[in-house]
Amino acid sequence: MTPSAELISILEEDSDRFMADFYAHFFALAPDARGMFPANMVDQRQILFQVLEYVLETLYSRIGEAEMIAFLSQLGRDHRKYGVTSAHYKAFSTALVKEIIRCLDDRRTPAMNNLITQLITLTAGVMDAAAQSEAKTLPPYWEATVVEHIRLGRDHALIRLEADGPLPYAAGQYISVQTPQQPGTWRYLSPTMPADPHGLLEFNVKAIEGGAVSPLLVSSTRTGDRWRIGAPHGSLHVDRESGQDVLMVAGGTGIAPLRALILEMCKYGHNPRVHLFYGAKYPGELTEMATLWQLSITNPWLTVVPVSEEEDDPWWLASGRSAQPGNPHTGMHARQTGTLADIVTSYGGWSDRQILISGAPGMIQHTMRRLVERGAPPAGISYDPY
Ligand SMILES: Cc1cc2nc3c(=O)[nH]c(=O)nc-3n(C[C@H](O)[C@H](O)[C@H](O)COP(=O)(O)OP(=O)(O)OC[C@H]3O[C@@H](n4cnc5c(N)ncnc54)[C@H](O)[C@@H]3O)c2cc1C
Repeated sequence: MTPSAELISILEEDSDRFMADFYAHFFALAPDARGMFPANMVDQRQILFQVLEYVLETLYSRIGEAEMIAFLSQLGRDHRKYGVTSAHYKAFSTALVKEIIRCLDDRRTPAMNNLITQLITLTAGVMDAAAQSEAKTLPPYWEATVVEHIRLGRDHALIRLEADGPLPYAAGQYISVQTPQQPGTWRYLSPTMPADPHGLLEFNVKAIEGGAVSPLLVSSTRTGDRWRIGAPHGSLHVDRESGQDVLMVAGGTGIAPLRALILEMCKYGHNPRVHLFYGAKYPGELTEMATLWQLSITNPWLTVVPVSEEEDDPWWLASGRSAQPGNPHTGMHARQTGTLADIVTSYGGWSDRQILISGAPGMIQHTMRRLVERGAPPAGISYDPY
């Protein structure tokens, strides 16, 4: 067994106690860090343990090292919004080393010592360095004011904000937000438009039943609310120079980053052809249809196919906004009924396209699997962890 595999198996012997003791020690060394974490630490302990396992496994396999460094760097940049400093990373390292050594007991060897040093360098070291580097040019977060809140139905709202200055995100990226509806809690949202020089932002928010934040955003957002906006993430993009046409698949609010990319492309005279399948459970949940119709009329490279799993809206959604089957908007594809995976693959494998998928994780995995079965190369498919 390699030292990495051995260390993982030792830590797994009693991972709950390992993580609980680590956090107790960490908070004793850095008491101000306690407020950065939720009251209930169960999920947090699991997440950190998974990160440590991921780093150790990568050290062992040596596969995906660049991706691991990129992941940890992004994590470090993202933690700036919580107010994490170098002193916290130092306390983190001290507590982690102490708890690993306690778990190892008399099984500690020179190879293990070397591994612990690498683990600390890669976690705290890489995260801190990435955070410090970004701090030279960017603040830990930005502030923005809600200027408009439009209810699009029982579960949906369009929220528009004006940031105190322009935000440095690329079309297709997502950003973390903290709102007065749930202070201290951050959630990812995807801007529906490219970055605006005046800091204007728009989000399409769906209330998730039982969710801590999204139902409040849909029901209780008020103009004048002040939001915190964290650093942008993600790399969904269209390669306009590749010579390949584009397939986009969007489920629900997953339309947001693809809409932003399409709006960005509208700035150019020539673009690859874009075939967008836009799906939701009910026709009336296709809240961006009117905009997409307008865009497809004025941009001949854009084809939009509306898709819904159900043929008709439920009573609570019947709003007259639905994309009707048949001929919904002049020149636009008729709405198709079925799942996105079924409808998209009924047109073929799309193996010659750049493929972008955005939406719920289940839809992404299912659509991706079906496309690969029909011949699409996995390397040509991109998506963000939703
Ligand atoms: C990259 C990315 C971009 C995103 N962009 C948007 C966006 O533009 N608009 C938007 O409305 N949301 C978006 N989300 C989802 C958003 O960040 C929240 O996860 C979602 O609003 C639920 O948060 P919550 O606090 O209400 O629910 P939580 O309290 O976090 O979760 C409550 C329960 O709901 C489940 N759950 C969480 N999210 C979903 C989901 N999407 N579908 C089904 N079940 C879920 C959880 O597993 C949990 O069981 C994005 C997420 C990611 C990762």
